[in-house]
Amino acid sequence: MKTLKNYINGKWVESGSDKTEEVFNPATGEVIAFVPISTKEEVDESVKAAKTAFETWKNVAVPKRARILFKYQQLLVDHSDELAKLITVENGKNLKEAKGEVQRGIENVEFAAGAPTLMMGDNLATIATELESAVYRYPVGVIGGITPFNFPMMVPCWMFPMAIVLGNTFVLKPSERTPLTANRLVELAEEAGFPKGVFNIVHGAHDVVNGLLDHPDVARISFVGSRPVAEYVYKRGTENLKRVQALAGAKNHSIVLKDANLDNAATQVLNAAFGSAGERCMAAAVVTVEETVADQFISELVQKADNVTIGNGLDDDVFLGPVIRKQHKDRTLGYIETGEKEGARLVRDGRRDKAAQEKGYFVGPTIFDHVTTDMKIWEDEIFAPVLCIVRVKDLDEAIKVANQSRFANGACIFTRDGGSVRKFRENMDAGMLGVNIGVPAPMAFFPFSGWKDSFYGDLHANGKDSIEFYTRKKVITSRWV
Ligand code: NAD
Repeated sequence: MKTLKNYINGKWVESGSDKTEEVFNPATGEVIAFVPISTKEEVDESVKAAKTAFETWKNVAVPKRARILFKYQQLLVDHSDELAKLITVENGKNLKEAKGEVQRGIENVEFAAGAPTLMMGDNLATIATELESAVYRYPVGVIGGITPFNFPMMVPCWMFPMAIVLGNTFVLKPSERTPLTANRLVELAEEAGFPKGVFNIVHGAHDVVNGLLDHPDVARISFVGSRPVAEYVYKRGTENLKRVQALAGAKNHSIVLKDANLDNAATQVLNAAFGSAGERCMAAAVVTVEETVADQFISELVQKADNVTIGNGLDDDVFLGPVIRKQHKDRTLGYIETGEKEGARLVRDGRRDKAAQEKGYFVGPTIFDHVTTDMKIWEDEIFAPVLCIVRVKDLDEAIKVANQSRFANGACIFTRDGGSVRKFRENMDAGMLGVNIGVPAPMAFFPFSGWKDSFYGDLHANGKDSIEFYTRKKVITSRWV
């Protein structure tokens, strides 16, 4: 069984740490690798390499840096099936979803390859008589990236391609639960021609994170993960005077109105709630449905949920794979018990699905009706295939319910009425909205713009925000005499 290596200064190196963690295939419970829990010293080493590489890399012409990303893009396309399989094996999502994730990651590389235009400055020929001003953009130095288990390729790709093409160097700390894809991303980066020290990986857990947060030579931190860790990372990073973007947890609400195409709404909600085993930061966790159509909507949804295939995501036609770990399955089962105790009505019990008795960490689609905002199952991010339904009298009440959540990542509405869409858009406290779709995750060229406790910072990942985040500006004012 292999123990993964770190990648520092263009070399694969064994960690000096004596601590490792098992990496599981969540569909089978088998151990597939060991990941080193690296030390602070290894962080220091990688930051030193990245700092040295920065001195050269920052001066490489922008089109030349972009050309390396073009090559990288082609390599990712060529290896997309292999990458998707790796994602399914270590994360559990089905192969189709994994292929979608690979595609999303590639789109980030494609967006970043536009660096020569994205990095342009600005100027004004005459700010006063014979006086001109211009803005130039520069990279900032070493960036630290810390990523979650649920998108082992896409989330790292939100960070390192753009950071690197803009002239920065990068140290990635992937999730210790899904570290295999990250190593493959680095191998392909090496093949594409990323120079040594430009892209480094240090595997591990909180010691590596703290090492990055405290290191004086790390200029920026990009974090994606759960809310409490995001808060911690944001506070500790900014206390050390770094700029931090910390994308956090979610409890996304979908609103189903009585004039919606209920069949489409049920299909979309099914996918958004149970796809990727509910382990998406844009998953539908709560549906607020207008009382007059609630029974019909719920009956369609339950029927569709009864028909999903649960199993190993590598197998054909499997829709619902496992959750990430046994502990996470146990936590989810705990929430189902809590929901029952709180008085919600369990209309579909995913504990009874056959797969839930098997060796992998499976939980079938679980649906609670008559959920209220004082329940823990409404409040907490469960991050599993558990959906809460809140019955409301109208759109105003639906928005009021959703806006009570501390989270505000995404929200969706299902309706055919333009006025309702406008009211939803203007009044919903969430950064990513969807109309008649289930998962309104923005593409690479738009910001991934969570609000409230779903995000700490000011500049989001992706879109123009990412160019702002990974660069700094010089303004030069000149008079030619
Ligand atoms: P997590 O917070 O457990 O881990 C994220 C990263 O932080 C990992 O690399 C982990 O090693 C590190 N970490 C964990 N505990 C730490 C600690 N005490 N100190 C320092 N570092 C620590 O998150 P996860 O379970 O891997 O991912 C799922 C979470 O990520 C969900 O809450 C989900 O909503 C969120 N997420 C958010 C977005 C978004 O865009 N807002 C996207 C994907 C996932």
